[in-house]
Amino acid sequence: MASDSYDVIVLGAGPTGENVADRAVRGGLSAVVVESELVGGECSYWACMPSKALLRPVGVVSEAAAVRGVTGARLEPAEVLARRDTFTHDWKDDGQVEWLNGAKISLVRGHARLSGERLVSVGDVTLAARHAVVIATGTDALVPPALAGVRPWTSREATSAKSAPSRLVIVGGGVVGCEMAAAWSALGSRVTLVSRGALLDRLPAFAGELVAAGLRDAGVDVRTGVNVSAASRAGGTVTLTLDDGTPVEADEVLAAAGRTPKTAGIGLPSVGLEDGTWLSVDDTMRVTDVDGGWLYACGDVNHLALLTHMGKYQARVCGDAIAARAAGREPAVVDIASRTRVPQVVFTLPEVAAVGLTAEQATAAGLRVRVVEYEIGNVAGAKLFADGYQGRAQMVVDEDRRVIVGLTLAGPGVGEMIHAATIAVVGEVPLDLLWHAVPAYPTMSEVWLRLLEAYGL
Ligand SMILES: Cc1cc2nc3c(=O)[nH]c(=O)nc-3n(C[C@H](O)[C@H](O)[C@H](O)COP(=O)(O)OP(=O)(O)OC[C@H]3O[C@@H](n4cnc5c(N)ncnc54)[C@H](O)[C@@H]3O)c2cc1C
Repeated sequence: MASDSYDVIVLGAGPTGENVADRAVRGGLSAVVVESELVGGECSYWACMPSKALLRPVGVVSEAAAVRGVTGARLEPAEVLARRDTFTHDWKDDGQVEWLNGAKISLVRGHARLSGERLVSVGDVTLAARHAVVIATGTDALVPPALAGVRPWTSREATSAKSAPSRLVIVGGGVVGCEMAAAWSALGSRVTLVSRGALLDRLPAFAGELVAAGLRDAGVDVRTGVNVSAASRAGGTVTLTLDDGTPVEADEVLAAAGRTPKTAGIGLPSVGLEDGTWLSVDDTMRVTDVDGGWLYACGDVNHLALLTHMGKYQARVCGDAIAARAAGREPAVVDIASRTRVPQVVFTLPEVAAVGLTAEQATAAGLRVRVVEYEIGNVAGAKLFADGYQGRAQMVVDEDRRVIVGLTLAGPGVGEMIHAATIAVVGEVPLDLLWHAVPAYPTMSEVWLRLLEAYGL
């Protein structure tokens, strides 16, 4: 049995694993990542990149259709799919491997599993870590038991399919379900979206309501408040029975009902952890239930925020913490964003963008909050952006500190507006100071001024 030593060993070369290794190397350490599939992870090949490559043309056509005087914008599905394939590099990772080489990060291909304190096995090889082991193995799609026997699509097929099924039923009204409904209905599928609750139910209700209306306008059959009670497949046809007794037939069914951690079979019991569990971490990404302080977990696998940008942020925090501790110091920077200040954009029809806490979450956290809302369509920039612009902004203010703790925007083109809100929330910019951040006229960002005026400034 061969053995190699590195300062840091990372399990998984997704966006998180790549970044934690990079940060450790920048901090003067040696690092190896172990990858069982493609360097770049879910995000590059079956999630963010291909899904947004499918959705951007949909957004362009929808925006063009909302401006009088613009005609002729339409999708060419084969070209959209071909463009998508350029973003996934035809599911080859040569470019990302080159990046690893340039960043002086070693790569071992194979399935990694912990085999004891600071030890990782890959086939016959044992890797030993001088300072830290980082688990960044990500998540898999969660397939509800009712769908297990009908060979459902998961997010992987939904982002990599080579053609649109004639009829697609999507089970799950969260981000993946809503985004894929927008994409595949525009690409030619007749889509039924089945959701147990309201759409996007972790966000303020108006966001899901606008998206439900937008998807219906786009031809999606949106059914909320229903679940799948049975499913069967005969040849090319899947039949779902909903719990209100209605049958739904389709050629493909997409399970978009959440994620499950890829932590089964990676040797967690060898260090005293339960197989297949989410990993709980402190604010430097160190796993809380393991002695010795050598095991870290970043990205999806710690369940703090299942988003690429948050995984990469945690990777920076984690890599810096490992490098600091290796040098005998405590880390200067720890995670202040993952639990309460997470930005997110949902690329649906229309877009939804949010950061921080909802009013319910802020109240549950013991804050005295005030909620202010404004119709984005009233500002000149929105009227110019789309005829009959429909959209809303909601600001959640911590009344005791007079700072914004959460902001949600729903409407065409709002995705690019969220970073201003992230700066306000993370920077805890006092409202009286924010009032002097003058939005340019005539942009949609004037909604900031209107929200502050509605608040009473
Ligand atoms: C359809 C869809 C769309 C999404 N869109 C967005 C978006 O627009 N923006 C956004 O921010 N987030 C988006 N996400 C979420 C995003 O994809 C994840 O948050 C992100 O990929 C997590 O990165 P990660 O590095 O933690 O895990 P992953 O990207 O899952 O990478 C983990 C890597 O570890 C490897 N691995 C696993 N087990 C082992 C093992 N035992 N040994 C060796 N290697 C192993 C895997 O092969 C994989 O390469 C989307 C998700 C889905 C499903």
